[in-house]
Amino acid sequence: MIHSIAVFHGDGIGPEIMAPALAILKRLADRTDAYDLNFQDAPAGATHYAQTGDALPAQSIEIAKKADAILLSAMGLPDIRYADGTEISPQIDLRKELTLFAGVRPVTVRRGQPTPLKIPPGKEIDFVLIRESTEGLFHTQGRGEVTQDEARETLLITRDISEKLFRFAFDLAHTRKKAGRGIGRVTCVDKANVFRAFAFFRDIFDAEAAEHPDLQSDHAYVDATALWMVQKPWDFDVMVTENMFGDILSDLGAGLMGGLGLAPSADIGLHHAVFQPCHGSAPDIAGQGLANPFAMILSAAMMLDWLGIRHSNDAMINDAQNLRQAVDHVVGTGTALTRDLGGVSTTQQAAHAVAQILFGAGS
Ligand code: ATP
Repeated sequence: MIHSIAVFHGDGIGPEIMAPALAILKRLADRTDAYDLNFQDAPAGATHYAQTGDALPAQSIEIAKKADAILLSAMGLPDIRYADGTEISPQIDLRKELTLFAGVRPVTVRRGQPTPLKIPPGKEIDFVLIRESTEGLFHTQGRGEVTQDEARETLLITRDISEKLFRFAFDLAHTRKKAGRGIGRVTCVDKANVFRAFAFFRDIFDAEAAEHPDLQSDHAYVDATALWMVQKPWDFDVMVTENMFGDILSDLGAGLMGGLGLAPSADIGLHHAVFQPCHGSAPDIAGQGLANPFAMILSAAMMLDWLGIRHSNDAMINDAQNLRQAVDHVVGTGTALTRDLGGVSTTQQAAHAVAQILFGAGS
């Protein structure tokens, strides 16, 4: 089966990390008859805006809508902005355009990966934070009311999106449990003790939890969650939360992972999904061969996993696993680490080390 993939190469280090990720995906697909990938470039981003006056052309949105999955590296540059001074972020526009309500941020600390935490023997950090990505406190983004004396933004939580979000969270916990990762528990992170909107959010969560007697569920207040993510992150499996809380907690998660260079992500809806690293376009290191390609490569692995599960294709799920394990090995052994991970390797050398594990020496 051929899967069409829309590719947004992005700005800054974007094209540098996308190129090796695509090369690996092509070679994985080439060595099997079980699936094929057809990549189609979708121009967008700050550089594209500077050249054409359009940050996200309608044609690129069409390419994304028609694709089976979307791969996106980092977009936006601090020096290129819209006339009103706001930053160019087509990835946020795509989230809204394609109703990608589930922002999936895996937090995994691999062996050998730098982390500010001391992990007790026998414990490991491997949980997934799901951030609702279309409403919450971002509902009035760019439209808040500001007068001389006060400013207002509105939080919106809808039953429709919350039901979809929680169903997604429980399905993910189920998939993880089946794969031997996680104990099958979903934690609803909210502030239901203070805000009625979060009590509403929690009620919808509880209704979905009742549909999954094979899984565990619990609740945590967002402030306590921040504490526990530092004190005992190994206790979490899948956590699901509102947009702004998720925005903050996902950066805390990236901090646990020792930085952004190993943090992949996905933004998933019912019909579309975008896979991209958590980090930005890092203009400070662009064009120097210093960018860590692993977050992009791990995002590509998430894409294979998602497509494999969606289309019941075990070969894709296995390749996703192989890709993750290859990165784990390179990080764990310190074979080829870029500067952000304390090494001296270039982007190409780091990606090449992953390719060698997947395809053998001389590759
Ligand atoms: P954005 O707001 O677009 O997410 P940001 O302001 O968070 O971006 P990044 O572009 O993510 O900033 O960069 C933050 C820091 O992390 C920079 O010093 C950058 O060089 C570094 N960095 C980000 N991604 C990588 C990477 N893949 N490899 C190495 N360093 C990186």
